Amino acid sequence: TPVTTFAGRRVALFGLGGSGLATALALKAGGADVVAYDDSEASREKARAQGIAVADLRAEDWSRFTSLVLAPGVPLTHPAPHWTVGLAKAANVEIIGDIELFCRERAALAPDAPFVAITGTNGKSTTTALVAHILREAGLDVQMGGNIGTAILSLEPPSRERVHVVEMSSFQIDLTPSLAPSVACLLNITPDHLDRHGTMENYAAIKERVVAGSRRAFIGVDDPASAAIYERHSVPRIVQKGWISRTHASAYPVSVERKLDLGVFLDGTRIVLRHRSGSKTDAGLVLCDLAGINSLRGAHNAQNACFAAGVFEALEVVPDYDRTHLRQSIQAALRTFPGLAHRMEEVGRRGETIFVNDSKATNADSTEKALASFERVYWILGGKQKEGGIASLRPYFPRVAKAYLIGEASEAFAATLREEVPHVLCGTLDKAVAAAAADAAAAGEGERVVLLSPACASYDQYRNFEIRGDHFRDLVRALPA
Ligand code: ADP
Repeated sequence: TPVTTFAGRRVALFGLGGSGLATALALKAGGADVVAYDDSEASREKARAQGIAVADLRAEDWSRFTSLVLAPGVPLTHPAPHWTVGLAKAANVEIIGDIELFCRERAALAPDAPFVAITGTNGKSTTTALVAHILREAGLDVQMGGNIGTAILSLEPPSRERVHVVEMSSFQIDLTPSLAPSVACLLNITPDHLDRHGTMENYAAIKERVVAGSRRAFIGVDDPASAAIYERHSVPRIVQKGWISRTHASAYPVSVERKLDLGVFLDGTRIVLRHRSGSKTDAGLVLCDLAGINSLRGAHNAQNACFAAGVFEALEVVPDYDRTHLRQSIQAALRTFPGLAHRMEEVGRRGETIFVNDSKATNADSTEKALASFERVYWILGGKQKEGGIASLRPYFPRVAKAYLIGEASEAFAATLREEVPHVLCGTLDKAVAAAAADAAAAGEGERVVLLSPACASYDQYRNFEIRGDHFRDLVRALPA
């Protein structure tokens, strides 16, 4: 996407990683005069090779810049702002991110272009991938990106016939002042990333901006911070539709814990939508059923699925289409959803043993979701320990048949498991997979699971959690059939 709205402007850009470089190229293609920098010599070299002007931004005349484009994750405020932020502020230069460029492009070219923005503390990637998958299976032209996969400016440009499904981190929201999506999803807000955003209030206020600018919003109400945001945005709004003006809820609540009289909720395994609050005629529409959908196990994934199904129903890109047909396409799409790699990803089966790769679970909170989703678990855990340990997982210990410890955290975790859970120190993932597979194979009748959900970072033995998960997958594939 060439960014046409910045033609002729002089723009500073910091951060030439994947999305930064894509942004620089998009600005340049649209006729902007970009000056970019990155701390890494390799990244600077790569940008130069593609014709991007690279210069030390400290030596530039900042009064000539109209904007500073920052890569997401470069600190705006906390714990200390990046040095470019100081220079921009001193020169009164706006500070924005690549999604802001997309939003301005959309406002200029196709203000009605369907745009779904998804944020929350947990479940962003899963929900984004699921929304995109459902829309695609229904035959729509879908562009997915942002914090997941492709940089937003490497996608096709916005248009009335195309849906952009965009995952946004808090850092990206902070850098997107004109965010005004057609549909916003705010999944949940729990204390995480507070190191970067200071207080919970500040963190919640950033997330709320996605909802505030949207035409329609879905907001989780199962945690107090999101529920408070829903309360503030639940006032009905008059929407003009042809000759008829109707009262629409401006936001739909979403719950997997209780039935709602308006919004999207879980009823057993079924996802139900109620459009009108308190209406006797609206008993709720069953959008889909999660029974037997293995790629979306667990209550946390039910939450993600509620959002995805709700968005599909609300998106006005499909107004004239047969709604019944559309609903059938949600159910069909759930069946073909492959799930995301490293997040409770089923990577194999041997007899009645399922092998699940949850390498993304780098802390006890994430591992809790996995343990809560299975019974009879042969649990591989350990790695580089984070604060807090695994004591919070004690309520789930009865589900664990045996634990296999790897990496630096082994001794500490063994101390927590003590007499409650049989465990062995395996050292490496190779040994752990071999031992767990053998024990599970000998475990008699019924389904059981060998689960890699480490509750630890990977850095002691792997470069990142993806490589750890890939290794697990390879080990499982190499097991005898
Ligand atoms: P994100 O993109 O927000 O990091 P992911 O979809 O990648 O989220 O999921 C990461 C992990 O977060 C999962 O492995 C799971 O443990 C947990 N998780 C996923 N969805 C939810 C949810 N709706 N609520 C709480 N935790 C979740």
